[in-house]
Amino acid sequence: MLAQKTIHELHRLLTKKEIKPQEIVTSIFERIGRVEPQVKAYLTLIQEDAMKQAKIAEEKILKGEVLPLTGIPLAIKDNICTEGIKTTCASKMLESFVPPYDATVIQILKAQNAIFVGKTNMDEFAMGSSTENSAFQITRNPWNLERVPGGSSGGSAAAVAADECIAALGSDTGGSIRQPASFCGVVGVKPTYGCVSRFGLVAFASSLDQIGPLAKDVQDAAILLTAIAGHDPNDSTSAPIEKKDYTSKIGQEIRGMKIGIPKEAVQEGLDKDVQGVFEKDVEIFRSLGAEIVEVSLPHLEYAVAVYYIIAPAEASSNLARYDGVKYGFRDEGGENLIDMYCRTRSLGFGPEVKRRIMLGTYALSAGYYDAYYKKASQVRTLIKQDFLNAFKKCDVILTPVSPTPAFKIGEKTSDPLQMYLSDIYTIPINLAGVPAISLPGGLSPDRLPIGLQIIGPHFSEEELFKVAYQFEQALSFKEKPRLEE
Ligand code: GLN
Repeated sequence: MLAQKTIHELHRLLTKKEIKPQEIVTSIFERIGRVEPQVKAYLTLIQEDAMKQAKIAEEKILKGEVLPLTGIPLAIKDNICTEGIKTTCASKMLESFVPPYDATVIQILKAQNAIFVGKTNMDEFAMGSSTENSAFQITRNPWNLERVPGGSSGGSAAAVAADECIAALGSDTGGSIRQPASFCGVVGVKPTYGCVSRFGLVAFASSLDQIGPLAKDVQDAAILLTAIAGHDPNDSTSAPIEKKDYTSKIGQEIRGMKIGIPKEAVQEGLDKDVQGVFEKDVEIFRSLGAEIVEVSLPHLEYAVAVYYIIAPAEASSNLARYDGVKYGFRDEGGENLIDMYCRTRSLGFGPEVKRRIMLGTYALSAGYYDAYYKKASQVRTLIKQDFLNAFKKCDVILTPVSPTPAFKIGEKTSDPLQMYLSDIYTIPINLAGVPAISLPGGLSPDRLPIGLQIIGPHFSEEELFKVAYQFEQALSFKEKPRLEE
């Protein structure tokens, strides 16, 4: 089945003209027809459009113009703007919003003649860790349909894991690419802040948000990042970086590299199965000739608290634009302007989004700003400094991705704090702005994937892919979800 293949495998077949893009698209939509009723990864599917894009890609290939993503069907998280295609952020507020422009990453992928399959489900405005905060549907984990796929990019991760696309884009503010990748047994990358343009990504917390790939293997993730990374004058926080080939070090040995294990990595709340897999994974690095060194991230314990001041503060400001006037949902029942604002925002936003707006508005209000936002920003600097210090002693750092494997649907919805605490290993990376990759590290005894996180210094993505690839080869994780058995 072509839908099961990777970008690099399909690219080779397309280049040799052994297959046509239309056949890949057909295979993907056949697969979607069989498994999507159970998984529910997509909010919007664009089959007709995908077939048209496939035809255009075929013409390019016949002319010998085959770029790495030409003819490759991709899924896009529904907070990335796609011209003429609904972009809802899984919110009633944007239920019928059709962007008049493409995000920069979409423009880039279109220029390569990649093919879009559809838009994937997510937690409303990317706020959540389970995709249960979607206003529209619950996405299920392809490995176990009673479990969450993680979040907020749960639809993208589930679609990749279920072979409903070849690879996908997600966004990561505090773990939203890496944690669902871990729960669904796929590879996910949170690039260095500023590495990928945020132009056209619906803003949640602007100092933390990054777009990144979700893919079936490390090489595919590197190929997709190579396409989308680079400077963009339309994003003022975009880094002035040269275009790079992030696959260039894949295949190189890691003998002699220093791998840091934070002494805070194994802590209370860490599930025994996750700990077991993590310890085995560390041994694999040793067997590859890497030197294991202990490092310390002393401020790690404050990361979740800092994040839940900074991210909601930025969100409360970013989400002020949904007022029923400019675009999106408006409640018509209001008696005056203020009433219209109130009704629109009360009906348009779900409970988690309202909770964040209230938290953020409180933290930024007069008299509280210094005590909360300013203090959180200072501790954020200390967390970043922890990483800079650790990287003086090692080349990359390993941690688990999430303290538990995928939890049950409904298990944490009544306790927001429990949900927030599940981001302990992913949030510090966004606060520090450094890149990290999540890739399969093993399986739990009840057959749930458990991810491993590899963290590198700012702009060290090439090294990260090199290290991740060697580990992936050594572990040789060949398990797949058993959806159709
Ligand atoms: N789970 C975290 C939150 O709820 C991170 C979300 C994200 O990365 N978008 O904010």
